[in-house]
Amino acid sequence: MSNVVLNVSDVQKSFGGLRALSDINLQIESGKTHAIIGPNGAGKSTLLNVCVGRIIPDSGSVIFDGQVLTGKKPHQINQAGVARVFQTPEIFPDLTLLQNVMVPAFARRDGAFRFNAAIDLRSEAELRDEAEDVLQDLGLHDLRNHLAGSLSRGDKRRLELAMCLIQKPKLLLLDEPTAGMSRHDTNRTIELLQRIKGRGMTKIVIEHDMHVVFSLADRISVLAQGAIIAEGSPDEVRGNPVVQEAYLGGAHL
Ligand code: ADP
Ligand code: MG
Repeated sequence: MSNVVLNVSDVQKSFGGLRALSDINLQIESGKTHAIIGPNGAGKSTLLNVCVGRIIPDSGSVIFDGQVLTGKKPHQINQAGVARVFQTPEIFPDLTLLQNVMVPAFARRDGAFRFNAAIDLRSEAELRDEAEDVLQDLGLHDLRNHLAGSLSRGDKRRLELAMCLIQKPKLLLLDEPTAGMSRHDTNRTIELLQRIKGRGMTKIVIEHDMHVVFSLADRISVLAQGAIIAEGSPDEVRGNPVVQEAYLGGAHL
């Protein structure tokens, strides 16, 4: 495979006696959207957590863009261009939407979560403009001065996506980005993720909603009980009898 930007090699992770990930190998090409599907408890979130440094694997490595991520701290991995939307939204409920989106923008400039006195008012205004643009992109601009804590669960997820996009990541990891969203908001999120597809960002999407998966994915890996049981194009995965049996209990994708 040419142009591989993310290389996960032989990753293993156990929690006590439970093997959450065994021998995971995954190569993702630059600019592609790779979906990871599989039943609850398959190890999908654990795999993303390994990629962002929240979980240290027992063995194996993750290499992104020529840099070894395994063993690095989450903020170092973030500075390497990796951003993630978590399964449970992690936002600042007592700040406005605009302020929420500006926090990672400041962090990107400073390399730390602090307000640096050296940031002049002009650069703050630029960041505000950038934040407003991202909120506009996500259809949240009208709510920009509301407190984030007052948002619906679906809007919180979109706010978190905005907080990722303002960082202009090279690798975006999305853990069930449409969970808790109405069909309308899900479709808007699909449309947004399709729109940003051409911008050179590589994405991994974990999703239960097959409409989202088949709308976005260039390739799909199927995880079951900590192992990748199938991988291929959406058509290959859709037609794979092993996948239908293991993941869907025989139902058709
Ligand atoms: P998925 O995201 O596919 O639903 P997870 O990666 O969250 O699955 O979990 C995989 C397995 O590992 C599950 O059995 C889960 O209970 C277990 N697990 C996940 N995180 C931890 C943890 N921090 N401590 C112990 N067990 C965990
Ligand atoms: Mg999960």
